[in-house]
Amino acid sequence: MNAAQPLDVQPTPLALLLLGREADPRSERGVECPGDLPAPSDPDLVARARAAKEALGERVFVLGHHYQRDEVIQFADVTGDSFKLAKDAAARPQAEYIVFCGVHFMAESADILTSDDQQVVLPDLAAGCSMADMATAEQVAECWDVLGEAGVADVTVPVSYMNSSADIKAFTGRHGGTICTSSNARRALDWAFENGEKVLFLPDQHLGRNTAVRDMGLSLEDCVVYNPHRPNGGLSTEELRAAKMILWRGHCSVHGRFSLDSVNDVRARMPGVNVLVHPECKHEVVAAADFVGSTEYIIKTLDAAPAGSKWAIGTELNLVRRLADRYAAEGKEIAFLDKTVCFCSTMNRIDLPHLVWALESLAAGTVVNRIRVDPETEKFAKLALERMLALP
Ligand code: SF4
Repeated sequence: MNAAQPLDVQPTPLALLLLGREADPRSERGVECPGDLPAPSDPDLVARARAAKEALGERVFVLGHHYQRDEVIQFADVTGDSFKLAKDAAARPQAEYIVFCGVHFMAESADILTSDDQQVVLPDLAAGCSMADMATAEQVAECWDVLGEAGVADVTVPVSYMNSSADIKAFTGRHGGTICTSSNARRALDWAFENGEKVLFLPDQHLGRNTAVRDMGLSLEDCVVYNPHRPNGGLSTEELRAAKMILWRGHCSVHGRFSLDSVNDVRARMPGVNVLVHPECKHEVVAAADFVGSTEYIIKTLDAAPAGSKWAIGTELNLVRRLADRYAAEGKEIAFLDKTVCFCSTMNRIDLPHLVWALESLAAGTVVNRIRVDPETEKFAKLALERMLALP
């Protein structure tokens, strides 16, 4: 290798995310959990969680993300994707405490959308999102300067995926952009192109590319990837000026694992299978799939599927397992798209000991692991979220 050539590698906090044991200044999520946790082997954990939740009554509302473990999801008052859960929490003003069994950026969004009287708790501060960590506020500010120097910032509209830190949502609000989810990314991009000539899509390159190319008919050549670890994002001024979609170089470490081989393998193993994947998967996976959509779309599609149909699902394994169990009785055969295990390891930081600790602490009058977004960040992040809510 040429010694002068920059290495095409991203420093990743993955090892720390997996261990959840260290402070990581590059991470949007927190540090080691401070609590005196019950032992995972304690046979009374389920009874303790139930007792603490009952003692809190209406004062607590437990949110369970679709990718959460079964041992935790059994205590959720409501399940869903991150945006649905944040809205559900806002619709429960009597709940003083919102216990978010999800990851850090989701708890931030819940804090932004709920009233000041509601306190959002993340049972383990080390539950972050590797995708959200791939775009820091400093990196995105530098990118905006690069776009300014190329003379394109004025015609670029930022569109940020819900799976981003509050800082990135605030950047988006400040610069006239909107948030999107995997359900409304197409509408968000339509809106953005009505308001500008280019889109800076953060932080998931795959959702941005898949929406632009698969749903809107743009070409792969219309898209460039901005790499925050390279000078000027690794792009020339000409490339920035020619591009319609400037995709941030981020991805989901769970959905990014599915490959074209996974699709070909499952078609060989299960003749007649329908391949249904999340749009956070790579473009070649999405292009080879039969159906593509958000977790809510995946659930609705399986719900409406006829008995005897076969499905291979490309999303997080906890959800796929629950769906396979739920629909087995209706004669629907549901398999996981990949042969290897594919959990969201950071989401799985929230386990029963952490949930018991959080609920018992709240029942004893101590608020632990509160997630708070500062008022200035909240103001602009909310602006970006409101633009999304106003999308046609
Ligand atoms: S599944 Fe992917 S995007 Fe979702 S929280 Fe886990 S790492 Fe983040």
